[in-house]
Amino acid sequence: MGFLAGFSKEDITPSLDKKVYLAGFGRNRTAEDAHDRLWARCLSLSNGKTTVVLVSLDLIGLFYEPYVLKLRREFENTVLIIASTHNHNGPDTLGLWGPDVFTSGLDSDYMSLLISRIRLCIGRALGSMKRARLFVTMDEREELMDMQGDGRPPIVKDPTLNILRAVDSTGEGIFTLIQWSNHPETLGGSNRLITADFPGVICDKIEGEVGGGAVYVNGAIGGLLSPLDLEKPLIDLETSGKVEHKTFREMEVLGLRVADIALETFERAEEVKNASINVKFKNIFIPLRNRLFRILAGTGVLKRPVYTGGEVDIRTGYLNTSEFGYVKTVLGEDILSEVGVFNIGPVQIALIPGEIYPELVNGGLVRLPGADFPEAPFEPIIRHSMSGKYKFIIGLADDEIGYIIPMCEWDEEPPWLNNSSEPPYGEVNSLGYDTARIVCESILSIV
Ligand SMILES: [Zn+2]
Repeated sequence: MGFLAGFSKEDITPSLDKKVYLAGFGRNRTAEDAHDRLWARCLSLSNGKTTVVLVSLDLIGLFYEPYVLKLRREFENTVLIIASTHNHNGPDTLGLWGPDVFTSGLDSDYMSLLISRIRLCIGRALGSMKRARLFVTMDEREELMDMQGDGRPPIVKDPTLNILRAVDSTGEGIFTLIQWSNHPETLGGSNRLITADFPGVICDKIEGEVGGGAVYVNGAIGGLLSPLDLEKPLIDLETSGKVEHKTFREMEVLGLRVADIALETFERAEEVKNASINVKFKNIFIPLRNRLFRILAGTGVLKRPVYTGGEVDIRTGYLNTSEFGYVKTVLGEDILSEVGVFNIGPVQIALIPGEIYPELVNGGLVRLPGADFPEAPFEPIIRHSMSGKYKFIIGLADDEIGYIIPMCEWDEEPPWLNNSSEPPYGEVNSLGYDTARIVCESILSIV
């Protein structure tokens, strides 16, 4: 048989009846109002043997434990993948952006509501499945790179725009999956309005033009692909003038342009007729080396288990620090996460649990002066290990472990990278210097 496909979306915008701490940028940034809605967007795809559900959330990220594993257990006959767009204008779902360092910004009532909405969304996407034809296409024109700033040397971007589309027997859209790479933080750290940012603009436009539902997922956004660091201003096609930086108009112009490029590339889409679907996951233990994360896990701000030797380790101890005095810290060594590979005929999708640096995906690793491990061996390059004709990367898939940084570029100690007078940004939001090796080698072992 051919494919069955479905789609559903559920509103996950938090109520503003109580304080909502916005995720990303600095702490204690509270929401004032909502500019547009946040969604859980869910597509389902089956070949009669294997059924896959992919959820994308307009959120900063969602931890593998407890949330993704909990939902997986509820949908045992379905392969469930839950990604986040890494939106910086939504509620804190990790706990890192509360009023102060030792107070979580996560609201447990919102988390319960979120999980119930995701559950509903998955059920509806599964319930709406109908016969479908599947098409795939991609674009990598230079203009897509002009819309990505790169905030950290080496300048390596990933323009790849991948699209997977299911249509019904009349040609009407069922779902369109759009994968590109950029931080949803167009408005910058002073914005206090909830918005789905440019992924929301892309999805609205695609849904309006071709029907069905749209799902946006982000690829390699580490290192640091962001509209905040654009080399030249975007041009507003309505006025032919430059768009003002960090504005809702900039977010719209960016989203509409990516959507238009996606719509153009539909015209050369290839039909996926090989109906094989297979998904492989691999659990990985990653050393939790980040000192602040260890303290936050010890003090209960970061709520996820820590492991030693593959077993949950609940031990805590105290650490004497210059910034906080004596603080509680976990004594366990690792966190449990996951990588995955999803194959559908000529399409291969790598599922990466965080924000991977583009040079680990496409190549372009370099040894820069000032790095802490100048002789570090290069990690295997993900797209070089992949075999599909269309190689999708879904970042923040089933987890958000932060930045996945090449070891040869790791820099926590002076002198700083590229003789800079300031330390590079990235390591503070990474588990450690060996995270990239574990992620890249684990992907290599299952592709
Ligand atoms: Zn980020």
